Amino acid sequence: MRGVALTPRVRWSCPNCDCRSTSREARPHSQMHTCPGLGGILAPLVPEGMRCKVEAIEREDAVGSEQGIRFDEHGRAIMAVRTMRDDGYDTAVFAPSATMTRDEAEDSGLARVLRERMRRIQEAVNRGR
Ligand SMILES: [Zn+2]
Repeated sequence: MRGVALTPRVRWSCPNCDCRSTSREARPHSQMHTCPGLGGILAPLVPEGMRCKVEAIEREDAVGSEQGIRFDEHGRAIMAVRTMRDDGYDTAVFAPSATMTRDEAEDSGLARVLRERMRRIQEAVNRGR
């Protein structure tokens, strides 16, 4: 008796460009691509035929010295990409990160808080052994 492949094939497309893809994965998953239709921002593909709108959401607050800010080809800071479907929406958020020096962390008390949290995590790990 021969085995039967039960892994579904999903065809993906983008409503904003010509990108197409196919995946074979049994678990829930998504496909991302750098979308020329959205100014080069990382955006999800959607199952082919799905009625939806995929749009980049521009960051509205001031851009500082955070790391990981994504800019589109027009120089706009993009904070998320939203997929609007008939039954709801999904949002992929591009969260930047703040940075500080070790001295700033020590002076603000943040370093002490983080050391205490790491100590508690290590204790929990050791109890689990
Ligand atoms: Zn695209």
